[in-house]
Amino acid sequence: MVIVMESIATEEQIQKIIDLLTRKGFDAHRSTGATRTIIGAVGSDAGALDPRDFQLMEGVREVLRITEPWKLAGRVFRPEGSVIAAGAARGSAQVSFGGPEVVVVAGPCAVESEEQIRKVAASVRRSGARVLRGGAFKPRTSPYSFQGLGEEGLRLLRAAADEQKMLVISEVMDATQIDVAAKYVDILQVGARNMQNFTFLRELGKASLPVLLKRGLSATLEEWLLSAEYIMAGGNHAVILCERGIRTFERYTRNTMDISAIPVIHKLSHLPIVADPSHGTGLRDKVAPMARAAVAAGADGLLIEVHHDPDNARSDGAQSLHPEQFAELIGQLKVILPAVGRRLA
Ligand code: PEP
Ligand code: MN
Repeated sequence: MVIVMESIATEEQIQKIIDLLTRKGFDAHRSTGATRTIIGAVGSDAGALDPRDFQLMEGVREVLRITEPWKLAGRVFRPEGSVIAAGAARGSAQVSFGGPEVVVVAGPCAVESEEQIRKVAASVRRSGARVLRGGAFKPRTSPYSFQGLGEEGLRLLRAAADEQKMLVISEVMDATQIDVAAKYVDILQVGARNMQNFTFLRELGKASLPVLLKRGLSATLEEWLLSAEYIMAGGNHAVILCERGIRTFERYTRNTMDISAIPVIHKLSHLPIVADPSHGTGLRDKVAPMARAAVAAGADGLLIEVHHDPDNARSDGAQSLHPEQFAELIGQLKVILPAVGRRLA
């Protein structure tokens, strides 16, 4: 962190800054130029300093943070980028996120019945999806909406995926669900509403499965990466980020799909990032355009809701693709991917 003093700052004001830095355990490096004094904080954990502690002190013109607040999630930790393999723990066929191949995750919002999940699994697999999604524990805005089938849903999801030789991802909503889910899934999903549930993130840090961490509804990229840092600091470095749209003033779409997050995250972090245009837009006819844009922007994967009968889906039907629309989208991705140096997993 660098503290730039006003040109009229007094010696006493400068000394107060230096004293505070020293009390916080940092070395203060002072350089006095022709017009103003600049103080640099040097210490092993400069990211832990809060710029606001200095911003309001008398004589301070500006405080600049030059170290990033994360240690493990930042690009410098692994400049070549992380490739996260899923499936190994259960002996399933492996699928890697972050390599040359773009992974398509597809399935219904929620597992509803054996017939439903088997039908959807067969159709998305035929089109090219490698990972089957489906919520068993559903975070619904209203307590009266369908909450998911729980462990029975996980069992149906796993069976349908095994039948199609697919991997499985499903959401866990709290720490008590991690062990139950780990019996059935290859990747644990953390929903947008839980992105900053820090005690939960710490528990996921002890899990031995990869975690797909969705971006919070109103989370900045910095907050999101710090949430990934919580999981990684606990020992689990297998974190896959998922951009799923953020809350803005725009009401025409359910959320605003932040495509720009993809190249920005790639610059800031070594973690793979997948895009979820289903929750990102909330409207079926907007899903394919945003999916195409996301892979063109460098997304390492896509997470897409597909239902064999979306009009009668128990959740998120309006944003679920019909199987034929999903097949058409995959055909388009096969054209786009080589142009950006990637291929479908
Ligand atoms: C989901 O994937 O079905 C879901 C609930 O997602 P989000 O947490 O992004 O709303
Ligand atoms: Mn959904």
